[in-house]
Amino acid sequence: MKNIISKNRLLFAIIIGALLGGVVGSLWPEVGIKFEIVGKLFLDLLKMIVLPLIVVSVTLSIMKVGNLGSLGLKTLLYYTATTAIAVFIGIVAVTMIHPGDGLTTISGNIPDIIKGKENMGVIDILTSIVSPNLFSSAANYQILPLIVASVLFGIAFGKLGTENQIILNFFTVVDKAIMMIVHWIIFLTPIGIFGLIAYRIGAAGGGSQLWQLISEISKYFFTVLVGLFIHGFIILPTILYIFTKRNPLMYFRHMSEALVTAFSTASSAATLPLTITNVTEEAKVSNKVGRFVLPLGATINMDGTALYEAVAVIFIAQSYGIDLAGTELVVVFITATLAAIGAASIPQAGLVTMVIVLQSVGLPMEGIGLILAVDWLLDRFRTTINVWGDSIGAAVIDNLEKS
Ligand code: ASP
Repeated sequence: MKNIISKNRLLFAIIIGALLGGVVGSLWPEVGIKFEIVGKLFLDLLKMIVLPLIVVSVTLSIMKVGNLGSLGLKTLLYYTATTAIAVFIGIVAVTMIHPGDGLTTISGNIPDIIKGKENMGVIDILTSIVSPNLFSSAANYQILPLIVASVLFGIAFGKLGTENQIILNFFTVVDKAIMMIVHWIIFLTPIGIFGLIAYRIGAAGGGSQLWQLISEISKYFFTVLVGLFIHGFIILPTILYIFTKRNPLMYFRHMSEALVTAFSTASSAATLPLTITNVTEEAKVSNKVGRFVLPLGATINMDGTALYEAVAVIFIAQSYGIDLAGTELVVVFITATLAAIGAASIPQAGLVTMVIVLQSVGLPMEGIGLILAVDWLLDRFRTTINVWGDSIGAAVIDNLEKS
């Protein structure tokens, strides 16, 4: 009972924080900008805790999981399948709505954000799995090599038999301390979210500017939203219900802090502490499964990003008067899935890996200029669906492991 009351209070405070941030940023952009420091402090706290959290979570969970092969395989299969479904929905939506019709394409320079990445390819994604220097990976927020190393250490510790008791005790205590700090940070969520939203809308020039920005490219903007809506509110909840018989609305409520944080931070990695707390403590997914599946999901499972990559690339083609069809659509389907897997879980990473998809069908990088202005906003919607997809994955895999 006490938990329900405090959950209600926190949720209420978060909603008020988000709404107030929206109002301040929209009506008084110059005031909104002043709250940058509030949002930044909150974000930095999340980022500070997330790397130790991932390393300890994954190592501990692998030490405790009896059959990693089965858990790992189910997780990878589930993530790939749902990402592929998301891309498919994106392709259908953009082909049906055809938002690129009648646009004048932007020509000119390659946008700054992808400068130096023009030659990125699928091979870069594969080579980012293992790192020769884990410290530099950590410093650069490259999470996948950290997960791989944690899995290897987890397996090795697990094989040491009774000798590993000391390490098990050590990691268990560190984990408890990390989760305690996570709870302190969660307490600050309403203020942090207020700061992040007030600043971001303020920096965009306020509500009317924002509206102006969206209206210039509204058909594309709404195509992405329609795709995300279908995937997030129809497909994923149906999967949740079929595999776990859980009530999707209740699950959504359990996940609410994480989802609002994903929207406010545009980073699945920064949201991870809240995702883990919501999934394991509120939705009661087992720690053993959740602590492995969620960090991996935040890193490689990006349904929203995959869907968006497909929509964006086909939209860019349409605006050049090119109608991608047949094999080209299959190529977009495959490369968008890979580009989403390879995207870092930080703001606008999907825009960077889009280079791979554009290249695969021979479209010019300059096309990105067309979607750049609204990307930071769409990023928030797709990150929310990314986190929602990860958390549903945790519940489904937990159930599959039990059965
Ligand atoms: N910001 C997204 C995330 O962290 C990645 C992206 O699509 O840019 O999940």
